[in-house]
Amino acid sequence: MPIIQNHWSSVVDHSRRYQDFTYVYPVISRRSRGLSIGINLNPDKRCNFDCVYCEVDRTIPGKATHVDLAQAADELRWLARHAVTGGLGEEEKFREAGALTLEIRDFAFSGDGEPTMVPNFDACVEMAVGVRQELGLSDTQIVLITDAAGLDKATVRRGLEIMDANLGEVWAKLDAGTEGYFRQVNRGFVSFSRILRNLNLTAQARPIVIQSLFLKVHGEMMSALELRSYIQRLQDILAVGGQIKEVHAYTIARPTPEAWATRLTLAELESLASMVRNETGLQVLTCDSGCVGGVTLLK
Ligand code: SF4
Repeated sequence: MPIIQNHWSSVVDHSRRYQDFTYVYPVISRRSRGLSIGINLNPDKRCNFDCVYCEVDRTIPGKATHVDLAQAADELRWLARHAVTGGLGEEEKFREAGALTLEIRDFAFSGDGEPTMVPNFDACVEMAVGVRQELGLSDTQIVLITDAAGLDKATVRRGLEIMDANLGEVWAKLDAGTEGYFRQVNRGFVSFSRILRNLNLTAQARPIVIQSLFLKVHGEMMSALELRSYIQRLQDILAVGGQIKEVHAYTIARPTPEAWATRLTLAELESLASMVRNETGLQVLTCDSGCVGGVTLLK
């Protein structure tokens, strides 16, 4: 595995802005083990969650109101070529990452909101797959980073099937074990039961990655009861034949809009992760603030 340093500017700064692009941006991601090209399907900043730790500033209007697929494809094609031909690695922010910029580990649907809220998710996947094929990037994964609320939509399910045939992977958020904690932390505009149903459904069709952000609320870590429920939710997925490839456990990387939502220490995060590991038998990877941009990479 390549060595990725936490202090590199391309690792610390996971800005979803690149030049004058609207949809596409590069990041060096530890979880992706190298260069990930993000595709922002929510330039309008729409989301069906309102997480207490969200860094997206919704007081400033987004850059566009919808996804222009032709423009997104142009940006993706240009940036992918720029990376594999060495141009990106010569830019100041990416210079430390050197050779890592020459290999595109994944195209990741992510950005300033929830990617499954676009009305034509399947067409967005087809666009990314088309660029991947056109440039011969047969080892590049197609990743969906999602809050799981829209995984049951017909267009999303069609998109996931296309992803399945093209090294696709779903990274789905699960921060809570109960509806009450879900309301407190994610403040979703959908029911927790829908999230859980969607995780089950999706994991039954292909292995998924669970991404969980653990934090302190008013100075308190998740209670033992809540943690027990969270672990139970993972076990529920496994019990219905769902497959979980691994769990990514994070904490907050930077100050949050809600001052009462604060980060765990690495020791606290490790302790939670070890309980989850022991109870479920799943691979649980931890990552503190320096890693993958914390909350930025969650969405
Ligand atoms: S962190 Fe992600 S899921 Fe949560 S409100 Fe922000 S964009 Fe939405």
